[in-house]
Amino acid sequence: MNFDNYSWKDTVHLQSKKFICWNCGNVVASVIGYRALYGSYYKDAIYICPHCKAPHIVDHMNQEIPAALPGNPIKNLPETINRVYEEARSCIAAGAYTATVMILRKILMNLAVEEGAKEGDSFAHYVDYLCENGFVHRRQHEQAKRIQRLGNDANHKIESRTKEDALELLNLVQLILINNYEQADELVKKEPVVVM
Ligand SMILES: [Zn+2]
Repeated sequence: MNFDNYSWKDTVHLQSKKFICWNCGNVVASVIGYRALYGSYYKDAIYICPHCKAPHIVDHMNQEIPAALPGNPIKNLPETINRVYEEARSCIAAGAYTATVMILRKILMNLAVEEGAKEGDSFAHYVDYLCENGFVHRRQHEQAKRIQRLGNDANHKIESRTKEDALELLNLVQLILINNYEQADELVKKEPVVVM
């Protein structure tokens, strides 16, 4: 989100707090924000990011909301993939793990189809295809085998996924995208067809 034109009113000086901004991803330290009365004492509750001006909430348990985005931005991604990948990162930060897994599966399936796999196949088959054709590094084949269990093509039921499932899949998708786009010899310019 863009907070460039925001001018937060009546902010106060807070005790310095270091955090990763959920909006710009920078590690920042802020001393500007708002206090809240929690029970009978004041608590530093909202910090303004000095880099992008986004508000960063810290609750009475010291939990930060929203949490920083997991994973990292990836360079040279086609716009379509980048949008979906960033959405997946936001989904994890919001605690929407089942949605994250569904979106990340979609990225891998699209990548496989874009690279020659036939459409309408199972998730497990697409993961095999990416491994067999060198899109997944051989040292990551074990991880790839593990995430095949996150496919549920056989019964078409929506299964609830955990944070660990979502992070494991995000980690693998991130590695695959870095290898095939950010670190690719040639910039991949073509926009993939999005199969939904
Ligand atoms: Zn920021």
